[in-house]
Amino acid sequence: MERPAVGRSDRRCDEGLEPMMFPACPGEELPPQDETVAADDEHFMALALQEAEAAAAENEVPVGAVIVHAGRVVAAAHNQRERLRDPTAHAEMIAITQAAESLGSWRLEDCTLYVTLEPCPMCAGAIIQARIPRVVYGADDPKGGAVRSLYRLLEDARLNHCCEIRAGVSAARCGAVLSEFFRKQRAEGKK
Ligand SMILES: [Zn+2]
Repeated sequence: MERPAVGRSDRRCDEGLEPMMFPACPGEELPPQDETVAADDEHFMALALQEAEAAAAENEVPVGAVIVHAGRVVAAAHNQRERLRDPTAHAEMIAITQAAESLGSWRLEDCTLYVTLEPCPMCAGAIIQARIPRVVYGADDPKGGAVRSLYRLLEDARLNHCCEIRAGVSAARCGAVLSEFFRKQRAEGKK
């Protein structure tokens, strides 16, 4: 699929995301509460990774997200910024809208959001607005992350909602999908 001209103009931002910019940092991974939770986290992150891979196949920056309510997947989405020509079409934003529709409420109580890359400030804001109680993400985003890297929006006690966070789940794979995507982009750009 040919990339729309609209998408090219903001490609510069993405080019700043170098392969080594998605560190796995397993040493900083927060421990899960118990082994069952850890296994579930790996399982649902694998689904988010499938979404990320679907994004890559569509020439979108490969970030995927799923939202789980009471053990059931109520949303699964990937970045669609190019296709929709919408700067807000991040995986988390689309997943949050899907989950709210599925649950019939803007309040996503008892939900866990899984996302392959650390949420940006916009998505962290949406997570707070949706009152999502738990967020699990894969790779850190040192140039855009608003959970730990640049800001800690989900733990800011001045806001009316805080989340439980688990970072670094399948981080190496989540980062590798992004690194591979940008490596291909650069290779194609040199043709
Ligand atoms: Zn975002």
